[in-house]
Amino acid sequence: MDCSSLSRRSFFGAVGAFSLVTGASAQPGRVWPGGAKAAVSLTYDDALNSQLDNAVPELKRLGMKATFFLTEANAHWRLADWEALARDGHEVANHTVSHPCALSGYSAKRLEQVEIDPMEGYLDSHFSADRERTFAYPCGYLGVGRGGRHVRYARYRKILERDNVVAARTTAGGPNRPQDVVADPLYLHAFEPTYDGDTVAPARRYLNEAVAQGDWAILVFHDVLPKWHADGDASVATHNRILQHVAGLDVWCAPMGQVFDYVERRWRTRPEPAVTGR
Ligand SMILES: [Zn+2]
Repeated sequence: MDCSSLSRRSFFGAVGAFSLVTGASAQPGRVWPGGAKAAVSLTYDDALNSQLDNAVPELKRLGMKATFFLTEANAHWRLADWEALARDGHEVANHTVSHPCALSGYSAKRLEQVEIDPMEGYLDSHFSADRERTFAYPCGYLGVGRGGRHVRYARYRKILERDNVVAARTTAGGPNRPQDVVADPLYLHAFEPTYDGDTVAPARRYLNEAVAQGDWAILVFHDVLPKWHADGDASVATHNRILQHVAGLDVWCAPMGQVFDYVERRWRTRPEPAVTGR
């Protein structure tokens, strides 16, 4: 199957049909829409102009829909372009208003009232209030204020839960097992394939792992530029080769909110049976 996005209605239709065909022999924990071997979400952070100019054309050419984690601080420069992108079926989601990374000096109240609430409101008013509320932690930092790791993380989670965020993405870790996603949807792993260099190999390894395990791969991109300059960039050539590699795999490629919605529905109600006797 190719990686074009399926509409919400059609992918649930496809899943139903697939379940009927495969019947009892299907492994309930390893069934993606259309019988795909894994799910892949392409995510782009920080509302960067280079994404609109250099990444979107290849997404369009391959018929892929992605997730764009916007900050208001950057998105407002080309709001009309981001609005057009969302109308075209891409997901737009919360990456805070101004992208604060150092949060030790923040109270939960300040982070909520200055960065996260207003960004949800911005997305509601310029895009749609009827969307899966997903979030990407700026800089992948998971703690708010002072105290132990668990205390700081618990503060962050409470804010996201109050804002009805259903799934949140970090910037580290391997492919996501559906059972882990259901157990803790505010701690989704993700992989930035060009963080250490402008090559396709790390993405290939990560995606192969996802396919082998039947998991959900979430790729992270920042600037997509004619040439790689620094950590976090991808050159247009490498970015496009990674997308073409995804398109050649037997995977279901869809925005993060859409995959999460699917995982939630399927795995929360039908947990994988325990393996016995081995
Ligand atoms: Zn960011």
